Amino acid sequence: MMLKEIENRVKDPVRVKAPQSNPLVQALAQFDAATERLHLNPELNAMLRFPKRELTVHFPVRMDDGSVKMFTGYRVQHNVNRGPAKGGIRYDVNVSLDEVQALAMWMTWKCALMNIPFGGAKGGVIVDTRQLSSAELERLTRRYTMEIASIIGPESDIPAPDINTNAQVMAWIMDAYSIQCGRTVPAVVTGKPVSIGGSVGRTEATGRGVFIATREGCRVHGIPLKGARVIIQGFGNVGSVTASLLAQAGCKIVGLADVYGAIYNENGIDVNKALHAIKTSGRLEDVPNVEKLSGSDLLEQPSDILIPAAIAGQLTAANARYIQTKLIVEAANGPTTQEADAIFRERGIPVIPDILANAGGVVVSYFEWVQDLQHFFWSLEEVNTRLEQMMTQSFTAVQAICEEQQCDYRMGAYLIAVARVAEATRIRSLP
Ligand code: NAD
Repeated sequence: MMLKEIENRVKDPVRVKAPQSNPLVQALAQFDAATERLHLNPELNAMLRFPKRELTVHFPVRMDDGSVKMFTGYRVQHNVNRGPAKGGIRYDVNVSLDEVQALAMWMTWKCALMNIPFGGAKGGVIVDTRQLSSAELERLTRRYTMEIASIIGPESDIPAPDINTNAQVMAWIMDAYSIQCGRTVPAVVTGKPVSIGGSVGRTEATGRGVFIATREGCRVHGIPLKGARVIIQGFGNVGSVTASLLAQAGCKIVGLADVYGAIYNENGIDVNKALHAIKTSGRLEDVPNVEKLSGSDLLEQPSDILIPAAIAGQLTAANARYIQTKLIVEAANGPTTQEADAIFRERGIPVIPDILANAGGVVVSYFEWVQDLQHFFWSLEEVNTRLEQMMTQSFTAVQAICEEQQCDYRMGAYLIAVARVAEATRIRSLP
């Protein structure tokens, strides 16, 4: 009965016509579906759907040839009622204020679902990093940091890596912020190198969390990990760690994609060779003994587990009926549109949602922040054991609410997360 209600809502022509390419439309539709089911009062819905703060900065960067180029960046804090804002920084040509707002909102729900004391934030700069030298990337990062320095900090808003940013970029942010403060402030970012206060296990944490969510999903849906055929779109930080851990667990990685294209081998791709190709030429297509496909064709090849680990809006009304898989695990943020979600529900293909599946990164970011504030560092075993506990506990909580409410994983995760943020917002009340 309740499932039917959700399906009807999703088929609402207003939503179906919504521009599928805009992640903010998706994020708000997911939020509305959850608040409706929670019977959240309209005032709380209004308070939670807007970001608390959004900053747009336009800033100059000196290029290697002596010229000056202008760049645009954003930092959005969605909600801070449960703690300081937390979220990654993305460098990409497709970054927009709408995308950053959506990603910040998803961070709010993710932190609440994992029950860690953070609100949600996100940042981004519109840039094609492939066109920049390392020195230009460093100058851009330092300047962007100074532009957003007034709103970030260990007690207010803590950035982390996302698409095209990494531990080195976090080190530059930490250094630029520390120079402004006149003292070293490691807790201003997470995902830093271990040598300057990063946590062991952070680089692998998101992929490890995706692996745990996949393993749990396979257990519930009776898919043996050993021999399971896996397709992963995106072979960066998250996709490559996920691929390695699944291969170690006996899965057969039959397809991989990056921004340049896709590779496929029904007998399995050697993940170490794929890692080697990325290290040497930066492209998956240089892996030997594979068939080359377009990225969109790869998604439609037969698999037992499909893991989008690249960008938003990849599983849509256009391809959802052609996807041949038993389980979808969202390692990327926002890879499935509302329309595709409804099609997967109708076809009985479970989708483990981003705010659960890729939460391992922010969980270990939380551990890193705690270690920095206490100046007391943990072993890899401690980090991984606590990550395992928090991922499995959250998975079990979501599964329990799904059974109770007869809903899919995304709705279950949202019901828990939105209720927690709404309660924190209600109890703090309006001044
Ligand atoms: P990354 O920059 O390390 O890797 C991105 C990968 O996606 C690369 O292999 C790139 O070639 C590929 N890619 C980009 N556009 C593509 C396209 N159109 N088609 C196919 N492949 C494409 O980024 P990452 O840190 O691995 O992040 C990947 C996803 O995971 C993003 O959605 C990010 O928001 C999400 N995520 C990352 C973290 C983290 O800790 N890094 C945490 C949570 C969620």
